Amino acid sequence: MNIVLIAPPAAGKGSQAKKISKEYQIPHISTGDLLRNIKDENILNELKSGKFVSDELITNLLKKRLKQTDCENGYVLDGYPRNLKQAEMYENLLKKLNKNMGIVIFINIEKEEAIKRMVGRRTCPNCGSVFNELIETISPKQKGICDNCGSKLVKRHDDNEETFNKRFENYEKVTKPLIKYYEEKGNIHYVNSGLTPEDTFESIKKIIGGAYDKH
Ligand code: AMP
Repeated sequence: MNIVLIAPPAAGKGSQAKKISKEYQIPHISTGDLLRNIKDENILNELKSGKFVSDELITNLLKKRLKQTDCENGYVLDGYPRNLKQAEMYENLLKKLNKNMGIVIFINIEKEEAIKRMVGRRTCPNCGSVFNELIETISPKQKGICDNCGSKLVKRHDDNEETFNKRFENYEKVTKPLIKYYEEKGNIHYVNSGLTPEDTFESIKKIIGGAYDKH
């Protein structure tokens, strides 16, 4: 069960990846997290500016991660491939590792809604839960505090409007063409980012159920 998620920034990709990971017991691999975890100052500055890191760097990080034994039964990939070159590199990597292409799920959202979600987004540095202070259905019960573990929530430093606009432009220019690429390969599925993360997840479960029942 190898799942790739593609979405515009702030569509809820990370939250859905976490839900998928939990439901199907497969690891959630976020390439943004892989990069943030290196804690290299130059890389962190690049992330702050909204720029992409090199295809080679991110593909190497991913290769190391996919070789780990917890990925043997599948994984959900969040943030990669980000462009056509990475899509090709990913296919080569899968061949080398003897893994199958699995399915691609595209989560759609309008830009205005995405901005609202990004500005209000708060994450828990301890358990990784995601909340939004501007969206009632997913706001934390107590402002600034994680419902799940009680830690203080943080705003990601790359969650500001200027960075968002750069990321959105980047997305339209380099990531969106992946939709056509995977359409031609015939393994893409579509879902609209719903009113709540649970709505979206219900649609995603149908897709995964449909795809993996057939096998
Ligand atoms: P994310 O957490 O997915 O929003 O990623 C945060 C940042 O990490 C992005 O804005 C990029 O700078 C970098 N990044 C994450 N995934 C990739 C990737 N596949 N290729 C290049 N840069 C990436």
